[in-house]
Amino acid sequence: MTSPRKIAIIGGGITGLAAAYELTLKAKKNNTELEIELFEKDANLGGKIITKKEDPYLIEGGPDCFIIEKPWALQLIKELGLEDELLNTSSQASGTFVYDNQALHRLPEGVMMMVPTKPLPFLKSKLISWPGKIRMACDILVPKRKESGDETLASFVKRRLGKEALDKMAEPLIGGIHAGNPENMSLLSTFPRFLEMEQDGGSLIIGMFKRQKKMVEMMKNRPAPSGPKKTFFISMNDGLGRLVNKLEEVIGNNSFRTEREISQIRPAGEKGWLIEDKTGKTTSADAVIITTETYSAANMLRLELPRLADLLDEIPYVSSATVSLAFPRKDIPHPLDAYGFIVPKIANRRIMAVTWSSIKWDHRAPEEMVLLRAFVGGAHRQELVDQGDQEMLTMVREELNTIMNISSPPQKSWIYRWPQGMPQYIMGHLEHLAAIDKITASHKGLYLAGAGYRGIGIPDCINQGRQAAVKAWECLNIQ
Ligand SMILES: Cc1cc2nc3c(=O)[nH]c(=O)nc-3n(C[C@H](O)[C@H](O)[C@H](O)COP(=O)(O)OP(=O)(O)OC[C@H]3O[C@@H](n4cnc5c(N)ncnc54)[C@H](O)[C@@H]3O)c2cc1C
Repeated sequence: MTSPRKIAIIGGGITGLAAAYELTLKAKKNNTELEIELFEKDANLGGKIITKKEDPYLIEGGPDCFIIEKPWALQLIKELGLEDELLNTSSQASGTFVYDNQALHRLPEGVMMMVPTKPLPFLKSKLISWPGKIRMACDILVPKRKESGDETLASFVKRRLGKEALDKMAEPLIGGIHAGNPENMSLLSTFPRFLEMEQDGGSLIIGMFKRQKKMVEMMKNRPAPSGPKKTFFISMNDGLGRLVNKLEEVIGNNSFRTEREISQIRPAGEKGWLIEDKTGKTTSADAVIITTETYSAANMLRLELPRLADLLDEIPYVSSATVSLAFPRKDIPHPLDAYGFIVPKIANRRIMAVTWSSIKWDHRAPEEMVLLRAFVGGAHRQELVDQGDQEMLTMVREELNTIMNISSPPQKSWIYRWPQGMPQYIMGHLEHLAAIDKITASHKGLYLAGAGYRGIGIPDCINQGRQAAVKAWECLNIQ
């Protein structure tokens, strides 16, 4: 009797789970026995997705939502039968504030990403100075760049919209998604659409108008959408951990090898790949999908594939932390009429942003309480993540006091640190990926996927995991 074919997955974050799910589906559909072994160094699965239920609160330690514009998360949730558990952003508030000049200013209505699309609210806003507004409007006149190819986020925004737009909107809003530094962020790897807009429309403002018009046309022409309307950002009633739990259930416990840190992976000829954990225990697999952080993948591959390991090691990461705090509503003087605020680097403060979590999402805290979540660290202030809990809490409280005038202590707080947790797509990232692909393509049965490569958001990670699984399945050549 021949033993079933085996695929190993390293890393049990959303990318690894999506890969395991896709393989489970494939095996079932083809009525084939396939062994799936997913190795995760931690005791729990989910990676950056951590939902903690501590009655009456629901805390997200990492991501708290995903965008619906990229379809892969929504599609997976539908396949899993969880559509009824999706949670829109609450209608009790909308928008966001920007902290500037020692005050919170509402981001003008109609600003999409960083581009103003509604003239009146933009002109009325005190966030951008008059010279800054005029400079932003000049986007319509600035000729498009002659050279094609990549550019940093900072260079692009300064060129099209001016320095004030970079400092007060693009850096905290767009750079903030990656906790990154716009001065070295590759626009082509992160937001290629901006470059396309410039090339197609000659200007960002016109490009954004065109995009809006196209979307309106699309909505008009498409058949009535099924199910209730969804907001741009979406979560789940019980938090994103629900998606992880459901995937665990569908994939089945037999596949999971938790608390197994993989230290080495090497080609093993006919046997495919040999996988060794920290304790020296080995197993072999026909194919292996590595979904860990790229520096961790580098450590596993260094002995046999040193050039690949070097390339993987060169992808930089930054550290960040989230600090959630529960306050009695009466202790917060602010009307909390938005989803939170962002803090530009030029404000020189010690937090990057604060989400007013229980305002943005229902089911997060009881009526009389408010849950806030502060972001610490990122490319500009990584050292702050190394502080002890008490020190970090004191710092966040001081910042909240300065910015929101909250002087009372929180009733509860939760800290999650993400050391080297956020990959940075810096200039040259795409060329880097091409070099990595060239090496992996010459090693049958080796696949790399996850946040370090082609998109850090949950939808992109799911897509990468599933695509890697399809390739691994095809490589087994199962008839
Ligand atoms: C604070 C924060 C907020 C975020 N907010 C959002 C958001 O709101 N929306 C959004 O879409 N995205 C958000 N992101 C990004 C998103 O959460 C991540 O990019 C995504 O979850 C990464 O998934 P992954 O599976 O690729 O990697 P990970 O979740 O990092 O999983 C990798 C796994 O590999 C394991 N591992 C590592 N080394 C080994 C080894 N040697 N052996 C075995 N296992 C190993 C790790 O323990 C980990 O579980 C956020 C990220 C952070 C840090």
